[in-house]
Amino acid sequence: MASLYPDYIPPHAAHPTREDFAVVQHPQIGTVVACRRAFRKGEVLARFDGVTIGYVTQHSLRKSEGVHLLDRYFLGLLSHSCDPNVTVDMERQLVTALKPLEAGTVLMMDYCSTEAFLFTAFDCACQAPGCRGRIVGRQESLAPAAG
Ligand SMILES: [Zn+2]
Repeated sequence: MASLYPDYIPPHAAHPTREDFAVVQHPQIGTVVACRRAFRKGEVLARFDGVTIGYVTQHSLRKSEGVHLLDRYFLGLLSHSCDPNVTVDMERQLVTALKPLEAGTVLMMDYCSTEAFLFTAFDCACQAPGCRGRIVGRQESLAPAAG
């Protein structure tokens, strides 16, 4: 089983592998992670890893106040959806399926589940019925309503 992670990340049996996941270019979204086999709802997909840093980047996820995990090989490449198909546990460093995933499914998390403020705010095009539109981070829900 070949890990998606480079050698400098200490190996772990539950790290994402090239057998289970593919990093691919999606014509609309850009770089995405797709699963190469099916996963059941509730199944743990993988244990992610990375380097702990003190600031926000494009490929970091927030662990706690001022503590961010930089993972440019798996977790930091997950796409956003307002109706996500995976959930991320930053404490246990696990990605779990929220829905049954068929082989070829692009992994989608809700960025606002981990990020107080995104590195780059963007206009969401996920087309979920409850799409929130402009995605800036968890703080968006605290913003005063216009008018
Ligand atoms: Zn959306």
